[in-house]
Amino acid sequence: MSWLQKLKEGFTKTTTTITRGISDIVTKTKLDDDTLTALEEYLITTDMGPQVAGDLCGYLRSKRFAKEITADEVRGFLAEHVAEKLEPYAKPIAWSNEPGGTDPDVLIVVGINGAGKTTTIGKLLPYLKKQGRTIRVVAGDTFRAAAVNQLRAWCEKADIPIASGVDGADAAALAYQEIVTAKTTGDNLVVVDTAGRLHTKKNLMEELSKVIAVTRKLVDAKHIHCVMVLDATSGQNVLQQVTTFQEYIPLTGIIMTKLDGTAKGGVLLNVVHTKQLCVHFIGVGESADALQAMSADAFARNLFGLGEVTN
Ligand code: GDP
Repeated sequence: MSWLQKLKEGFTKTTTTITRGISDIVTKTKLDDDTLTALEEYLITTDMGPQVAGDLCGYLRSKRFAKEITADEVRGFLAEHVAEKLEPYAKPIAWSNEPGGTDPDVLIVVGINGAGKTTTIGKLLPYLKKQGRTIRVVAGDTFRAAAVNQLRAWCEKADIPIASGVDGADAAALAYQEIVTAKTTGDNLVVVDTAGRLHTKKNLMEELSKVIAVTRKLVDAKHIHCVMVLDATSGQNVLQQVTTFQEYIPLTGIIMTKLDGTAKGGVLLNVVHTKQLCVHFIGVGESADALQAMSADAFARNLFGLGEVTN
């Protein structure tokens, strides 16, 4: 299955909901105030947020108010505008390590328990390896033996070294050691999985801050990438999660998982609009090939059920 088909399949719940909603609302020949108001209210229910919904309807109004329009055309206009708005935020991680450079990049993956951090790292490893990254992994979720074992399995499959400690080992110390090792071996990327126990927020955040502090001692800031994994099925709650993490951690981007498990894929637009963070990847399933580099155009087209990109 091509990645576009995988994406389309993963978006089924969201696409079906949005497409049906628009078809139910856009029933008059000409675009009028009532239709726009109903559409805006409806879009808000898809978790994209009132500002994004308002902006989309404003765009539609500017293009077609009092003119003839069909539901399919509405979806086309909305997808066009979403793609344009998302474009500056659909970015790969900006690696800084240059050939021959001594400082590795350090990717610190954060997020609450169950968001999909470990799985996402596992999916990313072969992808990054293919891109020429020589990787060391730190199993920093040291309180969950299952998470360490899960990550070890992904690493073995991708033939990538993993550092792990015994129960409750100091994640920052593990990260420190691996970055030091990478500086001598010349490996150009250290990926750090982290714990996500939100109920022990203070400890967790102190632990994460410590991981970042030791990393800063060893490499230049431009090499540090703090990426938060967000579970799309949490809907608008992800906004509060980002706010909480940002109080302690300088997030550089996000990865949104489980878009296949929700009808509210529009929440990604809400996060981008509210937090202005780049989206690097999206997860649309549990399998290894269900993590995809973020594409504004493909995301927008799938959100509004426009099918595959032809150009
Ligand atoms: P962590 O606690 O943040 O490390 O979360 P895990 O990586 O253990 O993932 C929690 C669950 O979410 C696992 O069952 C994963 O298979 C599942 N998962 C992760 N990403 C996706 C995704 O994109 N789609 C679906 N359907 N499940 C996912």
